[in-house]
Amino acid sequence: MNDPDILAVANWLQARHGLYVFPVDHPGRESCGASHRGCDGQRGKHPRGRWPRVATLDPRHIRAMLADGPWNLGIACKPSQLLVVDEDQPGAFAEFAESVGHVPGATFTVGTAKGRHYYYRQDEGAPLGNGRGALAGHCIDIRGGGAGNGGYVVAPGSVHQTGVYYTPVDPTAPILPVPEWLARACSAVPQIQPPTSCHPPRHPASTFTALHGLVRFILGGIPGRDRNNRLYWAACRAAEMVAADLVDQASAEAVLVDAALKAGLHGGEPEARRTVASGMRAAASRGVRHD
Ligand SMILES: [Zn+2]
Repeated sequence: MNDPDILAVANWLQARHGLYVFPVDHPGRESCGASHRGCDGQRGKHPRGRWPRVATLDPRHIRAMLADGPWNLGIACKPSQLLVVDEDQPGAFAEFAESVGHVPGATFTVGTAKGRHYYYRQDEGAPLGNGRGALAGHCIDIRGGGAGNGGYVVAPGSVHQTGVYYTPVDPTAPILPVPEWLARACSAVPQIQPPTSCHPPRHPASTFTALHGLVRFILGGIPGRDRNNRLYWAACRAAEMVAADLVDQASAEAVLVDAALKAGLHGGEPEARRTVASGMRAAASRGVRHD
């Protein structure tokens, strides 16, 4: 997938669903676009500016804020009257729903790098906050409103630091009201302690998926402009995967160089190999980032 036009996505989310949006760091930027102190090194998720104030329903404001891109996009749940179920493991929410005799329903749903975001519409004032209630311990986070600022989610059209795009499962799906059973679950007193990790052992298919995301990111570059930067960035991410033992270095290099040649990188194979090697070295010397 090529980079979606993030402004068009923002306008679409505002017009179709009445969502309040704001710019979020894009992993293709040289450094975190949030320019905050003490950045934890995660890329593609940190808001530009004070998001509860900056989030807007006004297409002119968001156009101005996105002008010096690339930016990802965030959605402020409270003013948007949203409750978003954010699963950290594929199928976690469907499993929870089934355990209480329900299904998530055909509401607007966005595929993420790790699972899905299920969007639901709250009552006026978005009374349900970020509390997980009975969903705690099921590899699920909740983003809503409540008494404070509430939470935000990274919007469709944005790219995760692994190169995976946040993509609607069905762009025509409506945002359905929060089902009664879900509202009850969120309001319940948590019974289970969350497990320490939501990440099961990786298998070859997920490694392939992650590399595939990086390949798509390389192929989405603008000829003669940012392809070399994209290749370098992808090599940094691949080095992290190598360090985490998700893929071996030789195959990662081969896949990235191949993608660079397909993308028509200037300098051909020698240049592609140099860029990949230097990206991987730089990432290795910085240490590994997890998310
Ligand atoms: Zn940051």
